[in-house]
Amino acid sequence: MRLIFLGPPGVGKGTQAELLAKKYSIPKLSTGDLLRDAVRNKTPLGVEAKGFMDRGELVPDQVVIGLVREKLESRECENGFILDGFPRTVPQADQLTSILKSRAAGLDRVIYFWIPKEEIVTRISGRRSCPKCKSVYHIHSVPPKNEGICDGCGAELTQRMDDKPDTVESRLSVYQEQTAPLIEYYKSKNLLSELDGSGAVHDVQGQLIALLS
Ligand code: AMP
Repeated sequence: MRLIFLGPPGVGKGTQAELLAKKYSIPKLSTGDLLRDAVRNKTPLGVEAKGFMDRGELVPDQVVIGLVREKLESRECENGFILDGFPRTVPQADQLTSILKSRAAGLDRVIYFWIPKEEIVTRISGRRSCPKCKSVYHIHSVPPKNEGICDGCGAELTQRMDDKPDTVESRLSVYQEQTAPLIEYYKSKNLLSELDGSGAVHDVQGQLIALLS
């Protein structure tokens, strides 16, 4: 199963990708997580990416494509993957097609998650994540059992720097300008399925599984 989860920031695609990856035993590749790890570890790539991420801009295509290529070519992805947050531009999508073609593989489906804009802002402002195991929570809708502590690994939950209101606005306009064109891009290839992401996590997961089966 080779899937792309597409949609604006805060739509819930990371949470859905995590659940589905567990169910199907395939890896979830989140470029946001990979980049945050690189920033935290102060690798050369992380140092290059940090400024773009702090401003809510996209990291240059070549940097992100290199990162994804390495993962997709690893054994971990042999039986499939869920790409969360990649591709985010048309050149990234073109590059993905050629990486997969070189492995004689194709995409099975692109799931476009959407919710109303007001809900995006509410979701992002309440989002908390685990820097260690990457689990994602929401202070109201998906709270951890103990406030501020990850249920899975016990680490302290944090709010992402780029989830603060000013940066969220730039991320949303970057999404509209650079990523939303991918909706038509994949529609024209007959790969796109749309999913209303505004329900509760388990309801959306149920719809997603029904859509894929
Ligand atoms: P995310 O966790 O997917 O919201 O990504 C957080 C930030 O990482 C984004 O705002 C971008 O700065 C950067 N990023 C993640 N994925 C990509 C990508 N495919 N292309 C460019 N930048 C990305």
